[in-house]
Amino acid sequence: MHPFSLSRADDPMKAVTAHALDPQLAFIAGGTDLVGLMKDRAALPERLLDINGLPNMARIEKLPRGGIRIGALARMSDVAADMEVRHRFPVIAEALLFAASGQLRNMASIGGNIMQRTRCAYFRDETSGRCNKRIPGSGCAALHGLNRNHAIFGWAEACVATNPSDLAVALAAMDAIVVVRRQTGERRIPFVEFHRLPASTPERDNVLERGDLIIAVEVPARQEGRGSHYLKIRDRQSYEFALVSVAAAVATDGRRILSARLAMGGVAHKPWRLSVAESALSGASLDDGDALKAAIRRSFGDARPLAHNAFKVELAQRAAVRALQIAGERT
Ligand SMILES: Cc1cc2nc3c(=O)[nH]c(=O)nc-3n(C[C@H](O)[C@H](O)[C@H](O)COP(=O)(O)OP(=O)(O)OC[C@H]3O[C@@H](n4cnc5c(N)ncnc54)[C@H](O)[C@@H]3O)c2cc1C
Ligand code: SF4
Repeated sequence: MHPFSLSRADDPMKAVTAHALDPQLAFIAGGTDLVGLMKDRAALPERLLDINGLPNMARIEKLPRGGIRIGALARMSDVAADMEVRHRFPVIAEALLFAASGQLRNMASIGGNIMQRTRCAYFRDETSGRCNKRIPGSGCAALHGLNRNHAIFGWAEACVATNPSDLAVALAAMDAIVVVRRQTGERRIPFVEFHRLPASTPERDNVLERGDLIIAVEVPARQEGRGSHYLKIRDRQSYEFALVSVAAAVATDGRRILSARLAMGGVAHKPWRLSVAESALSGASLDDGDALKAAIRRSFGDARPLAHNAFKVELAQRAAVRALQIAGERT
């Protein structure tokens, strides 16, 4: 294990300043991803700053007009069990409940969840040698290697990894906001802009900069929130990351879709919003599976499967239809 020192933060501004000034310092919340990365030598911070003592960051609060603010230190299990979250945004509660295990969800924080790093096996393997995310410039072993679990959208030759967070997919569908504290004040980042595509700098997963502390995620009121569902397809039914997942939400007039929200996980370096399909779904009947599939297919024109993951193209479309129909049952 890489040696490190540990200190505890009790003041957000001091924590932000310490992080901004020290490139060898990392925040730690639940530690369920960071400690694993340190064991795999994919992260080697010399100093850990435990942020669990920071005030007012574990709350789940109602926002005016029906939104919800979730503190970055709220635990996954607490958010999944919160009655307001379950009632207003079932897609968020389900994305959390289908993730990891009960023990992990009790430890893992919301901020840490959206910051977790890819599960690409080459990235997690200290001996793999070629991984641009681990060692920039070293190449991508997955591009022509074992890439069954990798991206079909938005990848680059430098990296074909996917983002592993289930919660992130639900938050992208709901157009949540990531609230960040930094030395110069507060920054509010639209969720769909929080994670990055790999391009030529896959070592950067998101747009945060040194000295940025996530303090909360805000989910504005959405007319589609109540009629929402998270569908996760994986190799085994529990304790497994998604092969493909869908966050679907609809507002309806009877069985006719008025508006739809769709985001996918397991298909790209960031949660992948199906914007073209969302527009095409307007007016479609939830009972017309062919029409739903035709609308969803319109977002798959730019899918670029790799050698071992072409199955995801069909699987993802079927999953999206199913998730929409289940979401529609809740409206
Ligand atoms: C076996 C296993 C299975 C899993 N399965 C799933 C799954 O199916 N689906 C899923 O979504 N996840 C899964 N996970 C991932 C798990 O959800 C994450 O490890 C967890 O959410 C991370 O939260 P944490 O508080 O422990 O973060 P930490 O490990 O403490 O931190 C993770 C990263 O976030 C940074 N960070 C933490 N808080 C903040 C903050 N407030 N501001 C800025 N940076 C911050 C840290 O510096 C670090 O870089 C699994 C994990 C394991 C170990
Ligand atoms: S896909 Fe990305 S994380 Fe995986 S080996 Fe290639 S560069 Fe590394």
